[in-house]
Amino acid sequence: MPTIQKILVANRGEIALRIMRTAREMGIQTVAIYSEADRNALHVRYADEAVCVGPAPSSESYLKADTIIEVCRKLNVDAIHPGYGFLSENANFSRIVRDAGLLFIGPSPESIEVMGSKLAAKAAVAHYNIPMVPGTPSAITDRDEAKVISAQIGYPVLIKASAGGGGKGMRVVECEADFDEQMDRAVSEALSAFGDGSVFIEKYVTSPRHVEIQVLGDQHGNIIHLFERECSVQRRHQKVVEEAPSAILTPEIRNAMGQAAVDVARACGYYGAGTVEFIVNDSLDFYFLEMNTRLQVEHPVTELITGVDLVKQMIYIAEGKPLTIRQEDLQIKGHAVEVRVYAEDPANNFLPDVGTLDTYIRPQGNGVRVDDGFEQGMAIPIYYDPMIAKLITYGDSRDEAIQKMIRAIDEYQISGVQTTLPFGRFVMEHEAFRSGQFDTGFVSKYFTPEKLASPANSTESTLAAVLAAYLLENTKPKATLSMPNGTATGTKKSQWKANRLG
Ligand code: ADP
Ligand code: ADP
Ligand code: MG
Repeated sequence: MPTIQKILVANRGEIALRIMRTAREMGIQTVAIYSEADRNALHVRYADEAVCVGPAPSSESYLKADTIIEVCRKLNVDAIHPGYGFLSENANFSRIVRDAGLLFIGPSPESIEVMGSKLAAKAAVAHYNIPMVPGTPSAITDRDEAKVISAQIGYPVLIKASAGGGGKGMRVVECEADFDEQMDRAVSEALSAFGDGSVFIEKYVTSPRHVEIQVLGDQHGNIIHLFERECSVQRRHQKVVEEAPSAILTPEIRNAMGQAAVDVARACGYYGAGTVEFIVNDSLDFYFLEMNTRLQVEHPVTELITGVDLVKQMIYIAEGKPLTIRQEDLQIKGHAVEVRVYAEDPANNFLPDVGTLDTYIRPQGNGVRVDDGFEQGMAIPIYYDPMIAKLITYGDSRDEAIQKMIRAIDEYQISGVQTTLPFGRFVMEHEAFRSGQFDTGFVSKYFTPEKLASPANSTESTLAAVLAAYLLENTKPKATLSMPNGTATGTKKSQWKANRLG
């Protein structure tokens, strides 16, 4: 059985750091790669060795498979962890890694290939009795036929890119008159984002919830699930707030979904960590959406409620070790909530708002986990995903986790860019979220920028932020002192207030 001694993390930012931390705990050496835009990044400083692999655009650096393999040869690396995004769901890359005699910390190229296509995935699980949303079983080739099927399914329907991901290539069609226009849009978006214009139709489930199951499989055919994550608070079909467990599942439905997820994994001979996504309607019927063959952004909420380090398990599995966790050993303990802190302006349609983190002070304390890749004074590069951090809180109960989240958001001090933190606070305080009765329409149903009432949007606070930034620049030693007992003075106070909601 190969034992990994040196891992290269083919990623950047918070996830690169998160992976290297576990590797270090396991006594494994770490190698970072970075682009010219990331020279001073924290993941570069954290690694035992770091190699620049090219200019800022990811196509010229983080996506350069051959360069990455070359780095592994030079530095005697034995395994590559791809993180999420970038090359993580690229079957070809995992094949190249395998052919180079290295371990890919993830599933086989064959599993990635099948699950990378939503249509192939549906075909693969067809024999397993997994509930699926009504729709076309293959890519649309004939529009008239597609319209007939849509009418049978009943509008609204969703046109979806088979190769889709990250919420892209998806169009809702309300009625037949809109069909052609939405179809054109979906195909062109799919072509430009994924280089593959295949689209299919699914019934658009109204008021759905997104609930996904974490699975772990080893190379000996053992597969377990680690319960669910609720990810229904989304903008642009992308998640912003996640939690585990879901506020609405019964133990029976949880078991049934867990079993279905294990079957999906079995259908593609899965090993490694993976996520099976389901859509759940208001009667709690669930339907298979897709499987993500990688570590998920929101994996920490699962780690907190199960006590399992998913990256550690991924490493053991890649080494060929059998799983030592049995399904019956697993229990949900407590509740965890995650807010993704994006450099985006929630008051302006969640548009990315890149810039420099003039102030950046993390919340701390019992039950608070911050996974990030930035420090005060760093700029958020325009080339990559604008996620600054993931703020995760854990408590004995859902209410406790939410209260901790509100406290942590209030402590988090960020200036220089707008962030999704005030939106996170809005969600935590909203009665629909508090009661657990919400769906993927949360943002469109309840959220308008005025609801933020954030001082950060007012002229007064903009002035305060400018003044604070000036003071920070000119009184460095004092300004970088951390705040004692949450009490704020001078510069700090205006910053403190700038992050709070009225
Ligand atoms: P999750 O949050 O569930 O892990 P996301 O859909 O939010 O998954 O994607 C995580 C990251 O991977 C994001 O940065 C997203 O842009 C990227 N991503 C996901 N799927 C694709 C894809 N097919 N092509 C390119 N990027 C993708
Ligand atoms: P991606 O690969 O982009 O993540 P998914 O199939 O996982 O695509 O869907 C992303 C999101 O889009 C879901 O979380 C859900 O909010 C919405 N969605 C997907 N399919 C449906 C459907 N059939 N009905 C309603 N909403 C859907
Ligand atoms: Mg998805």
